[in-house]
Amino acid sequence: MRGASAALVVCLMLLGSRGARAESPYTSADFVGQPKFDAHVHANTAAGVFLKVAARDGFELLSINVDYPDFPPLDRQAQIAHQLRGVDPRRFHFATTFSMAGFGGKDWSADTIRHIDAEIARGALAVKVWKNIGMVEKSAQGRLIMLDDPGFDGVMQHLEQRGVPLIAHQAEPKNCWLPLDEMTTDNDRSYFREHPEYYMYLHPEQPRYEDLMAARDRFVARHPTLIFVGAHLASLEWSVDELARFLDAFPNATADLAARMSQVQYQSKSNYAKVRRFFIRYQDRILYGSDLTEEPPASVARAQNPPTVAGQFAAEADAFWRSDWIYLATGGRQHIDAINADVQGLALPRSVIDKIYRSNARRIFRLTEKPSES
Ligand SMILES: [Zn+2]
Repeated sequence: MRGASAALVVCLMLLGSRGARAESPYTSADFVGQPKFDAHVHANTAAGVFLKVAARDGFELLSINVDYPDFPPLDRQAQIAHQLRGVDPRRFHFATTFSMAGFGGKDWSADTIRHIDAEIARGALAVKVWKNIGMVEKSAQGRLIMLDDPGFDGVMQHLEQRGVPLIAHQAEPKNCWLPLDEMTTDNDRSYFREHPEYYMYLHPEQPRYEDLMAARDRFVARHPTLIFVGAHLASLEWSVDELARFLDAFPNATADLAARMSQVQYQSKSNYAKVRRFFIRYQDRILYGSDLTEEPPASVARAQNPPTVAGQFAAEADAFWRSDWIYLATGGRQHIDAINADVQGLALPRSVIDKIYRSNARRIFRLTEKPSES
């Protein structure tokens, strides 16, 4: 009897300590040891430094090919992805994309589907569409092609049928439509100062931010079974309330955090509890992503695709990842240059961190094999 009750006490103590541990957030010392997934990076070289830093810091990578004129040509991006996947298929994943050349012609849909299927056969986990749709590409009549254009229906239905996620970068941060002195973050300020062609405040003839968001929403509504990942917090980075409305309206949609953490930090500076509540409420819908780019194209493009100093990739990637971990996973304070402020970490519960940092991505991108071991 005494033995049984002693065992019960020990058992309760164990349960108690396990419960307490589950409640306490991770620390910065836990960063390396926790398996993590960066769902938005760009490997623009097969040099392999990215894979080495990822292995050291405990990350799997999803490298996204994108039709961005400052990046290598699409064929070269695909080649690099195939090569790195060959080196470490458990750690390195990639998303393919497609060219808009010939869009609207009679063969575009069939050719694009054939290209996507060939890349999936080589391991692609998703397809990316970029902001060129809605902001750059024009029809033969000279009108901007929006994402909800019926010309995309064949390709999108194919993705729906195959269960292949679409990662969509539509529009830009809302800052892009504001004068420089009203922008919330320094990285946007320098990017748009250096990229007047993408700085919509200077192009009032272009679609408004709200028009692009509306076209995106019509598109998502038009494809209710498409697995939709809104890159860069679905361009609703400026308001967790707006992002919550988007996620509520579209149950198949998720969003990645790539290159928008400072916007979240800007909001948590003024309303910490609201931002923290948002992550807990939408813990199944948010993917960690950085937008780290190995071999960013040129200094002017680096404000959105870190690192900022050529040749410093390994050190900058490590510092970037650690800073995000301190913010999301711990209660630590740190200075954030992009908003020139000290920011307190959200100290999200471990179970929430595990989802945002790994299991959401593995679910959405349908990775069922064993995780990579570091
Ligand atoms: Zn990106």
